[in-house]
Amino acid sequence: MIGVIANPADHAVVSEFFELFKTPWEFYQSDRCYEVLLCSTNSLFDQGTAKLVLLYSGQKLPFDAEETIDIGSRRTNRMMSYNGAQVPIYGDSITFREKGRGILVDAESKQEAMRQCQYQGRTITRIGYDIFDEVRTLLTAGQPPANASIPTLDLHIAILRDLIVASGLSHVEIPPVPEGYKFIVCLTHDVDHPSIRQHKFDRTMFGFLYRAVVGSLINVLRGRMSVRSLFRNWAAALKLPLVYMGLAKDFWRDFDARYRDLEKGLRSTFFVIPFKEKPGKTSDGVAPGFRAARYGAKDIADMIAKIAAAGGEVGLHGIDAWLDSSKGQEELEEIRSLTQVSEIGVRMHWLYFNEQSPVVLERAGADYDSTVGYNQTVGYRAGTTQAYKPLQAARLLELPLHAMDTAMFYPNYLGLSPREATALLEGLVDNAAQFGGCLTTNWHDRSLAPERLWDACYRDLLQGLKNRDAWFATAGQAISWFRKRRAVVFEMDSVEPDALRARVLADHADNLPGLQMRIHNARESRDSTHCAEPYVDKAFGETADTRVHCGASR
Ligand SMILES: [Zn+2]
Repeated sequence: MIGVIANPADHAVVSEFFELFKTPWEFYQSDRCYEVLLCSTNSLFDQGTAKLVLLYSGQKLPFDAEETIDIGSRRTNRMMSYNGAQVPIYGDSITFREKGRGILVDAESKQEAMRQCQYQGRTITRIGYDIFDEVRTLLTAGQPPANASIPTLDLHIAILRDLIVASGLSHVEIPPVPEGYKFIVCLTHDVDHPSIRQHKFDRTMFGFLYRAVVGSLINVLRGRMSVRSLFRNWAAALKLPLVYMGLAKDFWRDFDARYRDLEKGLRSTFFVIPFKEKPGKTSDGVAPGFRAARYGAKDIADMIAKIAAAGGEVGLHGIDAWLDSSKGQEELEEIRSLTQVSEIGVRMHWLYFNEQSPVVLERAGADYDSTVGYNQTVGYRAGTTQAYKPLQAARLLELPLHAMDTAMFYPNYLGLSPREATALLEGLVDNAAQFGGCLTTNWHDRSLAPERLWDACYRDLLQGLKNRDAWFATAGQAISWFRKRRAVVFEMDSVEPDALRARVLADHADNLPGLQMRIHNARESRDSTHCAEPYVDKAFGETADTRVHCGASR
């Protein structure tokens, strides 16, 4: 059990951090014994018998003065390195002058950011940043695009776990990994342009013609497109007048069938715009006119029905829901009336969002949001693969968006070739296999059709995910699974004091994969390598109630 001493102002952050870590913990109580004491304030760690005491702070503390710890430097926004992995620290951080073991260091100066000292007969590990400050930054402001590739929050969890098992303690958690799989994947599709016929002589049509005729040629010359695709795009451009006259097929329609064909039995989620011709608002006024879609959900009711019939999910691609709860209600209601599903999730069009949006969306009645991601790059805005509860929200969960096709392929964003995009996505899949959680992608409705033809990379991604034992879930299913995991409580067994019970609180009779308990074996020392099995996984029993012995003994 971890006892936590933190500032009361950080208690919500602490609670959310341990929903993501999902290991037994509680706020410190002076009459209880803890194996691990985690402090982010200077107070109180002269109590108890904890085997491991971790003191996290990016400030010089009275403790440092008392123990004559020599502070090397104090900065904000610094890159650290933990056993070689880059970990950005956004708030205050300090380094220490004394030479140490080089486990956690400033990436640039190589000065130590972690040191151990003896204090009243116990070893205290002093870490030069405030973990809860960092988690707060990640879950609110998020990471700048330059650090997008780093799953920073997941690394904070991994570092803490590593410090625990390296101190000779075993450790129990419910990993963010569904039973029988390695991780979750949510394939999502924002539906922005389900028909080119609706775009006559507008920005979208001229953009299409330019990219189909000229852009494709440039892409062929740069080795980023095949000649066959070039001819397909030229043919589509030539056919456009016939499409407008109704004499040729609208090649942006039937996007649902194209995805069903490619995803063959895998579940995916489509976010649909509720109302046509509404650009919506920004926080300072009206959004650009071309944010308005040329369709509303009712116009594609036939496709929505086919998506639902095939086991897919339809969510709201919101216009003003992020800013205005009553507009959000109307937008959600429009989708509900077409799907007959009460719990509707949201992704905002153009990823419009601010720090208040989780509360605004919750008030509107949204089940979850999946907007937190980047328009211009790929990666972890909130630093995690996991669905989390934004700090201001009461129930709404955020399913972070990690990779969007337009961010990868548009020349003014990353401008990648299909091969480069595949390599980038493989990195995200590797992280999901390592940390668990959910990888969420967004391929737009028209991305398989001319002029984009971004299907080869998508096909590679799907194959890679199948090879890595991913659970293909709709966004709503993934959220339900995370809710089930959040509903687990740990209880110390009253009969056997060193036994721990994990119980799912709510009644979760569902068709979702199960949860499992992961028991990490203690390591004798940081340098020992003889620990053959770093952990074992134990499935939750039929009663969703699992007991495990855990203690300092091996
Ligand atoms: Zn959109």
